[in-house]
Amino acid sequence: MLPGVIGLLQAVEVIKIILGKGRPLVGRLLLYDALGTTFRELKIPRDPSCALCGVHDGAQTSVARG
Ligand SMILES: [Zn+2]
Repeated sequence: MLPGVIGLLQAVEVIKIILGKGRPLVGRLLLYDALGTTFRELKIPRDPSCALCGVHDGAQTSVARG
């Protein structure tokens, strides 16, 4: 059941990004506690040394930039 819950959330995120609708889960980490049936959300700041979201000359996507 747990993979189904997380898989559904991931599928919805992809649809939101493709459609450009809603508030994508970018810069945020969603934690799901299946035993307590609770969700928590943590803000994740950019890592300047990260190859994807950090400050550098490499390719970056609009999704990664938020
Ligand atoms: Zn990063």
